[in-house]
Amino acid sequence: MELREQTAKEAAAFYGLDWITPSNVVVTGGSKPALYASLLAIISPGDEVIVPIPAWVSYNHLIELAGGVVSEVPLTDNFDLDPDAIVGKITPRTRAILINSPHNPTSSVYSAGSLKKMADALKGTGVTVISDDIYAKLVFDDDFTPVPSCGFENIIIVNGFSKSQALTGWRIGYLIAEPAIVEGVSSLLSHITGNASVPSQHAAMAAMDNHDMPPAETTALLKHQRDLVIKAFSSIPQVKYHPPGGAFYFFIDVRAITTDSVDWCERLLMQTGVALVPGEAFSAPGFARLSFVVDEAILKPALEQIVKFVSDGVEK
Ligand code: PLP
Repeated sequence: MELREQTAKEAAAFYGLDWITPSNVVVTGGSKPALYASLLAIISPGDEVIVPIPAWVSYNHLIELAGGVVSEVPLTDNFDLDPDAIVGKITPRTRAILINSPHNPTSSVYSAGSLKKMADALKGTGVTVISDDIYAKLVFDDDFTPVPSCGFENIIIVNGFSKSQALTGWRIGYLIAEPAIVEGVSSLLSHITGNASVPSQHAAMAAMDNHDMPPAETTALLKHQRDLVIKAFSSIPQVKYHPPGGAFYFFIDVRAITTDSVDWCERLLMQTGVALVPGEAFSAPGFARLSFVVDEAILKPALEQIVKFVSDGVEK
């Protein structure tokens, strides 16, 4: 209860949503079980869940494991939501839309305009927005509007302590939803995971008590590392990207240098030891994801290797 109280208070203030109380919060063993339990609680076999692509690698698996059908809708060219395309995909079987801002893998931040347009369009449809807010505290600019603050009628907020508080291995997360969903999810999880580990619940409370969310030095360090990547990439203009608005990824467009991003990532790995994730994992061939949340002593030489690999490349 103490963690639910603290989480409800923090979330209500962060999003400006006064309906959030401790009875709307379910604490889970990381945000992945929160996502999965949310899907299991609201979809019946054959129901559709709209997922903007590129999308984080687990979404399709979680939806399919829950018996749902994935309905993919591309983001815009600058990785914003396309409300018209999303609304155009809604069918009588559509139960939910799963969105994430800041966004893995592109690190983009969805614009308030497109979110509010989508919130208006969804009114009265009964479609639930599942907002994966795991990066909502890791943003680089003031120009950020969290998804839950945009007036969605039916929303489940999923979050956790893995990113903003770097408590990944402690497996602690939560969801915030209306009472009927809270009841369903709690009942379901009582049979699957039981409660989230109690030591981890205390760790989460300590993290909230003792630190800003996240600590100021975390954001400063991430900005510094983001700028190191931008500097390194300035010498290889054939690699295109949108600067990250949050999270800690660069989703680079490598279509000017290769026709096969899986093969390109494999050769980069074998020749230099640097691992990027090919865009195929996120339903976006032709791209590759770079995570810059590593020690600078690893990041700097890795960037040098990427620059050399691209500069020496003989394709395409
Ligand atoms: N959602 C997104 C978009 C993620 O990138 C991740 C982790 O990579 C998660 C959820 C899972 O986080 P957790 O460690 O809380 O399960």
